[in-house]
Formats: sequence, structure tokens, C-alpha cells
Amino acid sequence: MIKEFWETSLNKAPVVFKFGGSSLESADRLLSAVEQIARFEGPLVVVTSALGRITDLLAQFCNTAGDAVSISEQVQATHIRMAADLDLPEALLSDYGVHVETTLQALSTARGPVEGQERDEILSVGERLSTNLVAHCLSARQLRGIYVDSRTIIRTGSQWGNARVDLTVTRRLIGEKVSPLLNNGDIPVVTGFLGSNAAGETTTIGRNGSDLTATVLGACLEASEVWIWTDVDGILTADPRHHQSARVLPEISFREAAEVAYFGASVIHPRTLWPLLETEVAVRIKNLLAPENEGTLISSRIARRGRTLITTSIDDVSMITVGGYGMIGVPGVAATIFSAVQEVGTNVLMISQSSAEHNITFVVQASEVPQTIDSLETALADWLEGDRRIDHIRVLSDVGIITVVGENMRNRHGIAGKIFSALGHQAINVIAIAQGSSEYSISMVLEKDNLRLAVDCIHSELDDENDN
Ligand code: ADP
Ligand code: ASP
Ligand code: MG
Repeated sequence: MIKEFWETSLNKAPVVFKFGGSSLESADRLLSAVEQIARFEGPLVVVTSALGRITDLLAQFCNTAGDAVSISEQVQATHIRMAADLDLPEALLSDYGVHVETTLQALSTARGPVEGQERDEILSVGERLSTNLVAHCLSARQLRGIYVDSRTIIRTGSQWGNARVDLTVTRRLIGEKVSPLLNNGDIPVVTGFLGSNAAGETTTIGRNGSDLTATVLGACLEASEVWIWTDVDGILTADPRHHQSARVLPEISFREAAEVAYFGASVIHPRTLWPLLETEVAVRIKNLLAPENEGTLISSRIARRGRTLITTSIDDVSMITVGGYGMIGVPGVAATIFSAVQEVGTNVLMISQSSAEHNITFVVQASEVPQTIDSLETALADWLEGDRRIDHIRVLSDVGIITVVGENMRNRHGIAGKIFSALGHQAINVIAIAQGSSEYSISMVLEKDNLRLAVDCIHSELDDENDN
């Protein structure tokens, strides 16, 4: 019987569970996560983020001057308190205490502010502490959880704070280090968010990046599904934190989910689906607070027949406009502008061009404005001087982007009309508009103060268009 069980489960593709900060913000939540792991039948890999808000605390230290003692004490106290609340047996508790001490040594000599490699080393502390704690909780329940530090399996470049994963090397490392654990009937419990470069230095793959760690593992292990456990019932037609009438979508296509994540739905990290694009692996978003609910299935196999539209928003962005009469019809202006933007690593969220007003407008994160403007002024110096073919580079702060996403939008008439009349009724001014060339989305720039109301009125105007 036991032999049969192992043979069947070994032949099965594993599932990857990911628990984010929202699933690890209290001992109760963490125990619910452990409960879901315990209930799952079949091969399983677990990926965990840092305990709620710990990465923010570590980032705050990195951004400010001061020594690390008080941060280190706070981080230590939070984890030891959590371990005590979890009622770990004495031996496991003291073993965990040693892990905490050793890990926090990374902070002992640090002095803020820090950046680059040292910053990634410090940020890595959160996942190293939380993941080890989850592995200890599994051991306390006689489950075979094995702590895996993802720096030994996720190979990245050296783009500190936002490192790119090298899937080829990572696949080999996962095959060497994680597959044998699964074959042995163990549950690998892997740190999210972290990797290492070819020199073995710690890297991080972008804030909220544990979702990506989970899908990298899913792709490399040819998992059947990746389950992202969080605090909402799945992907909803709008952010449920702010819009009460939002409804859960039972399924959504890869393209829609990617667009929704890119345009501000924090429920999945924008790069989450990238490792799975060429695979059959599906993603499921599940609510740890209501695990009996089905959640949302994101799959490349879903050809959308539904008519659902999702409204998302991003705040904390700024709009940059480069304009001048001399720009009209002159080749190469756009190329010069966007190479200058790319040179400083700025991510452009939306672009809109107006030939009548002879300008190019684009939207970036507010924090990226200073270096972007410097780079533009240098690259466009020749255009700005002399006959002033470009006469201004302007920044409009305190704006936000609203995006309406839906794969079937292109086959339907009048959606844009409905959106703009809904905004018109509330006297909300639209500053710029862009439609994705794929016609899965329409984005608008609005004043930041109008964002919440605008999502509400667009969402309710479009609700009768939705059929699930
Ligand atoms: P975790 O800590 O588990 O990674 P996050 O806070 O990153 O969780 O993501 C979950 C949050 O995403 C939800 O609490 C919700 O407020 C937010 N969210 C924003 N837009 C959406 C949406 N369209 N559908 C579902 N959740 C959304
Ligand atoms: N702990 C990291 C962060 O807060 C990664 C994650 O939560 O996914 O950004
Ligand atoms: Mg998240």
C-alpha cells in the first residue's frame, strides 16, 4: 500500500505553493499555511516570502543613515516571538534561535544607507528567516519539510534589486538540488525573492518577487500547477481593498493576467507568468482565509469566451512630456528619447503621442523621474539648444493610470465610449489616453486624487458588460 502510494505520487508532477507576506503576518495565518501543506496529497514544493512587513523594515534601514543594531533587534524579536507563538517543541525552538542569530550576522557590521550588493544581502535576511521557520513548523508536525536557500538554485545576473533569472542554469541547479528531495518524498521549502549571481553573491529579483520564484520552480520542475496563496479570493474585476462590488473571476487568460499585473493589480508580480509562457503549467490564486473557494485559474489554455473587463489603477506615477514644433516629422526623436530613458533603467508604463500637439508623452514611476530627466536633458541637448526643435521637457506629478483589461475588448464596440462618458458624468478630466496595440487594454492618465472614484464609476458602468 505504502509502496503504491509512493509510486503514484512520484509519477505525478509536483505542485508549487507560494505563501506571500499576507499569509505570514501572524502565527494563526502561518499555521493555516502549514495546514494547507499538510492536507495536500502528492509531491509539493513550498515557496515563502518574508514575514509581513519585514522586507519594508530592512529596506527602510538600507535607505537611511544609522547602524543596524535596532533593526536587527526588531527583526530578531519578531521572529523569536512568532516562533514562540507557534508552540514549537523546545529542541526546534532552540535550533531556530541559532538560525536567527547566524542569519542576522549579515546585519551586524552594516551601516546605512547601503545599496547594490550589500543592500541585496540585507534584504535577503527576511526570506531566510521566514522560510526556515516554516520548515521548522513542518518538522514539528512530522512532515518532511527541508529548508532550501534559493541562492543555491536560482542563478541570476547582477542587476542588484531587480536581478534577471537565468532559466537555463537555474533549471540545471533545480534538477540537481530540488528534484532529488521530491524523489525522496521530502517537501522542499524554498526562500522566495532571492538568487545568486555566477560569483555566488546574493541577489534579489524585485520587490514582491516571490511569485516569480514560484513560477520559475514550476517551469523548471514541470509542475502541474503553481498555487499563489494570498488574502483575497483570486483575481477580481477591481482591487477588492478599495472597490466593494468587485467580483472574482473563476478563470483568466495569461495575456489578461499579465496585463492586469503590469497595470497595478498587486495580487501577482508583473513578471510572474514569464517563465510559464512556453509551458502547460497553470497558476491558481487561492485565498488562505477561505481555502474551500476555487480561486482564479490562470492558464495559457484558456481561450477567453467570457466578456469580463477588469479595471486596475497605479498611483505614484508621473507623466513626462517632451515637445516642440521642430519635432514634427523628424525621424529619430522617439528613438533618442527612449534610449535616454532606457539608459538609466527607467520602466515606461504607458506612451501616448500627439502629432497635432507635436509632443511625446510617457508615464514612469515617480521615484524614477529625477534620473530620467537628467538623462533626457543630456541626450536631447542638441535639440534643446540653437533653433530649439524641442522647446520643453515637462513633468506632471500626482497623476495615476487607470487601465481596463479584457481579451475580448477588440470585438466589442462602444467600450471606450462607455468609459469616457462614465468619467464625464463625474466631471473627471482625462489627461492622456493609450490603447494597447493588442487591444486588450485601454489606459488613461488622470489626476491621482480622482483615481478611486474613477475606478468605481468605470467599474460599475462596465459591470453590465460582464457575464461572469
Ligand atoms: P501577498 O502578500 O500574499 O503577496 P499582495 O498584497 O501582494 O499579497 O497581493 C494581494 C492583494 O492584491 C490583495 O489584498 C488586493 O488588495 C490586491 N489587489 C489589487 N488588485 C487586485 C485584483 N484585481 N484582484 C485581486 N486582488 C487585487
Ligand atoms: N519579501 C519580498 C518583498 O516584500 C518579496 C515578496 O514578498 O514577494 O518584496
Ligand atoms: Mg504579492
